[in-house]
Amino acid sequence: MRLNDIFKNIIFLPAFMFIGLMECDQNDEYDKTWDVDSTFVEKHGLITVYDNYLIDKNYQPIVLRGMSLFWSQWKGEFYNYDCIKWLRDDWNCTVVRAAMGVESGGYLEHPASEKAKIKTVIEACIDLGIYVIVDWHDHNAQEHRPQAIAFFQEIAQEYGEYPNVIYEIFNEPEQDNWNTVVKPYLSAVADSIRIIDPDNLIVVGTPTWSQDVDIASSNPLFQNNIAYALHFYAAYQYHKQNLRNKATTALNNGLALFVTEFGTVLNTGDGPIDTAETRLWMNFMENNQISWCNWSIADKNETSAALKSGAASKGGWPDSILTESGSLIRNYIIQGNRSFFDKIIAKRPVPTGFTLEQNYPNPFNSSTQMDFELPVGANIDLKIYDLYGNMICTLIQKSLQAGRYQTVWQTSQNDNKVASGVYLAQLIANFGTGTVATSRKLTLLK
Ligand code: MG
Repeated sequence: MRLNDIFKNIIFLPAFMFIGLMECDQNDEYDKTWDVDSTFVEKHGLITVYDNYLIDKNYQPIVLRGMSLFWSQWKGEFYNYDCIKWLRDDWNCTVVRAAMGVESGGYLEHPASEKAKIKTVIEACIDLGIYVIVDWHDHNAQEHRPQAIAFFQEIAQEYGEYPNVIYEIFNEPEQDNWNTVVKPYLSAVADSIRIIDPDNLIVVGTPTWSQDVDIASSNPLFQNNIAYALHFYAAYQYHKQNLRNKATTALNNGLALFVTEFGTVLNTGDGPIDTAETRLWMNFMENNQISWCNWSIADKNETSAALKSGAASKGGWPDSILTESGSLIRNYIIQGNRSFFDKIIAKRPVPTGFTLEQNYPNPFNSSTQMDFELPVGANIDLKIYDLYGNMICTLIQKSLQAGRYQTVWQTSQNDNKVASGVYLAQLIANFGTGTVATSRKLTLLK
């Protein structure tokens, strides 16, 4: 199919009106970032605390954004490979938190089955090339120190060589003393991990359900590569600016923070969503380069759950099964992780057909995602045109293996060049034995 065929019924306007549209920033960047075989963790490697933020193996600051699973003993059905894969491919998560319930019918009573769920998620994340937080999801861990040490030593033995793994050794201490109760437990467990795994990131909870990072910052742990958990529930009256002030104190005292869990709702996990306060927190975390996981991937009937009741445990969730919180957070994750997922990534399994899927979102404001599939290897040409046939930019011009791919058209860098309107994405694949083409209409609304 030739371009002339596509546009033969469209009236061409004078070219000078569109000269400004011909440039595309993405083109320049494309070849530098191309690497379909490189996962997020392969690119970033071991995460290390540097000053009061996290850096990757290339000594660059890194921010992880993703989802926490729900207590393993109650929503263990979501602890499966397909769910994690969906969270990576559809939500663009770069981290998933496996929240192993300890009390209340969790690990203490059923160590083998709960540990197996956690290992399933760890191995999925390793295979999928994203980070995984292994969370001792407990409010009284100081009473379960031997069990925690045994558990984390086993995890460190099996997985400590993988940069994917992040240990979270005490989810949320309650109103226990930092100096005399919480810190001694954390030191003992951290030491027990360091005997086996000298380097992977350890996240430690802080008193008052992981809010007292300011108190911890006055007497921090001495072990290496420690970040401090900060948890908040945006709609709860005590988790607003006053808690951000505590976090700022901790940052100023040199702690690296990691929001391993937060909600858009009340601290009960339920109640109304506070989108304005969530936005303030998002700004705070981005400004301070704080990584985060949202609570939670579950279909429980409460407003913090990302999924409506009855959602499939293996992912594949349409928008209609996402809750208000789930939709909001999925957008935040996609937006925040765009700098990685902008780059084209390979997806599996190998498809059977040649397709260009409708872009998402559509209409879109500044960036939109496009997926396509190649049943066999081909030379690919994916371009954006306006309705007058002017080429706006080339997204991909490359030889690709069979597979499912994703890319993003980002217009925000070209604000003065690409106007609101309808555009065509045209995908041409030259398979060697012939050429096929397909196109989609994209609507940009500014
Ligand atoms: Mg290690």
